[in-house]
Amino acid sequence: MELQEPTNNKNSKNKMPRFNLTWLYIAIAVALGYLFFAGGDSQPGGASKNVTYTVFKQYVEQGYANKIIANKDAGNVRMYVKPEHIRDVFASGVDQTGKQPFVEADYPSADKLDEFVSQQQELGNFNGELSYKRQNDTLMQLFWNIMPLLIIIFVWMFIMRRMGSGGAGFGGMSSIFNVGRSRAQLVEKGGENESKVTFKDVAGQASAKQEVQEIVEFLKNPKKFTDLGGKIPKGALLVGPPGTGKTLLAKAVAGEADVPFFSMSGSDFVEMFVGVGASRVRDLFRQAKEKAPCIIFIDEIDAVGRARSRNLAMGGNDERESTLNQLLTEMDGFGTNSGIIIMAATNRADILDKALLRAGRFDRQIHVDLPDLKERREVFQVHLKPIKVDASLDIDLLARQTPGFSGADIANVCNEAALIAARHGKEAVTKEDFLAAVDRIVGGLEKKTKVMTDDEKRTIAIHEAGHATISWNLQYANPLIKVTIVPRGRALGAAWYLPEERQITTKEQMLDEMCATLGGRAAEELFTGHISSGAMNDLERVTKQAYGMIAYMGMSDRLPNVCYYNNDEYSWQRPYSEDTARLIDEEVKRMIAEQYERAKALLLAKSEGHRQLADLLVEREVIFAEDVEKIFGKRPWTSRTEELLG
Ligand code: ADP
Ligand code: ZN
Repeated sequence: MELQEPTNNKNSKNKMPRFNLTWLYIAIAVALGYLFFAGGDSQPGGASKNVTYTVFKQYVEQGYANKIIANKDAGNVRMYVKPEHIRDVFASGVDQTGKQPFVEADYPSADKLDEFVSQQQELGNFNGELSYKRQNDTLMQLFWNIMPLLIIIFVWMFIMRRMGSGGAGFGGMSSIFNVGRSRAQLVEKGGENESKVTFKDVAGQASAKQEVQEIVEFLKNPKKFTDLGGKIPKGALLVGPPGTGKTLLAKAVAGEADVPFFSMSGSDFVEMFVGVGASRVRDLFRQAKEKAPCIIFIDEIDAVGRARSRNLAMGGNDERESTLNQLLTEMDGFGTNSGIIIMAATNRADILDKALLRAGRFDRQIHVDLPDLKERREVFQVHLKPIKVDASLDIDLLARQTPGFSGADIANVCNEAALIAARHGKEAVTKEDFLAAVDRIVGGLEKKTKVMTDDEKRTIAIHEAGHATISWNLQYANPLIKVTIVPRGRALGAAWYLPEERQITTKEQMLDEMCATLGGRAAEELFTGHISSGAMNDLERVTKQAYGMIAYMGMSDRLPNVCYYNNDEYSWQRPYSEDTARLIDEEVKRMIAEQYERAKALLLAKSEGHRQLADLLVEREVIFAEDVEKIFGKRPWTSRTEELLG
């Protein structure tokens, strides 16, 4: 995702037009201003009088002239009258003539006029200059007439461009005419953003890599497959959570196959104007055909590929649908063996339009999952390479401390750790820096300044100790890593667990999990005598999980083996009856109540241990698995994760 860097690219390209445009606006403003003020001069508010040349000469000789302006095109001369002589010329006062009254006369020839004026200057009757002015009144008139039109056109172009660039960046003038062009970024050998990504840069993801390697084979060696009558696949869909390396994989394919790589995000297609998306798709495929064999990569394809709505009442999105239709048409359009392979990424394959997934389109789905323990170790190895780490750093520990992290998160941890170490002026990045970076990414910045009363601190300690006590003493609950009562982000305290990395989860495991999550509130109720708002998050999670277990996984005795999962986004109807709805609600309540009672019973049985834990928390604010082990003894069960680590 982040490989695309659209904004940077756009900026550097568009610096020039932006500069020009600014100048244009300034020029218009200046012209307007000039016309406004100069207009005052050419159409002065003063009175005027046409006189003969002889009379004009008399006025000048009598010293009435303030300014003399000859207009060569019209062959006349204009004389502005000095304020003190206005009454002599117009027989009325300034209040009637205005400040700048003038007389106009036709002059016989420019030479004569020149001669006369310089003569009068020598005599001292006129001490201004004779100036000449071109006849441009009609030009100005024209200008004034087309001005509003120009302004409207400019405003319109401005708006168009803003829309055209989707609000990001500031497209040049030319982009108004280019709305329909695709914005694909082209990566090719020797090009400006040549991709150096290879499969070595992608850690873990063994099965995804293997499938993707086949695509490289197709591109490198199409004959091998076509000779046997095989068809080269047209598209592969990479499915998985964000940050797991889907873009990276696609880039690696391009890098390894040594073919051009067009990269574009699904949201780039979609604009406000009807038809723009479709024409961008067309343009993208036209470019790709010229460069074949090549790869087109569409990130976040769900932006265009969402299922077309069947529910007319909701109103479809015409623009998106026509874009999608165009994409489907183009994918059908090019021949099977033309050497273009389309890769797309999404984290929601279930909402994609079924037509996209049919044979001949994205008929291959490659799953890219969050890395497991071993894979995380590999990802760390990749991203630790450029970092100067302390010799004692244990990569296994890092992998263990980052359950649920994606590749991108891990890359982030490494970077953050380096920054933290630098801030402390260290020579190398140490384990502590990495752990601090992990905490920071999980929970946001520590809020050391958040004021907490002793009472609040005690309540939070009791709550967190409740979670810890229960998870330590239930077989299937996730083993604990550490517990803290240092507030971070919006959370007041937190207990970190090592989620078991399992492929399937049994009902017992889920129930133990639920019991541990309820342990916080149960402890509050038992040991402080009242319950607090601090458990809201826990309750939300528990409720969701209970609904999932009962309505989707068929895990309750009264509703066994049914799944009411509904993956149709646009449908508001429940796929079950009112009676069933009531039953589900009852079962959810019952399940949660049972686990809450179970948590309370367990806490009462271990109340001494819980108290010690809470005290320790208040004292130290952070405690680790070892501390819990000292209180409750070693857990009699080993977890799958621990087995994996050996
Ligand atoms: P996605 O497209 O799946 O959202 P990306 O491919 O954009 O994720 O990954 C973002 C970044 O995370 C990559 O540039 C890379 O630095 C890092 N990353 C993600 N997965 C891996 C992986 N399996 N191996 C190495 N680095 C990874
Ligand atoms: Zn809690």
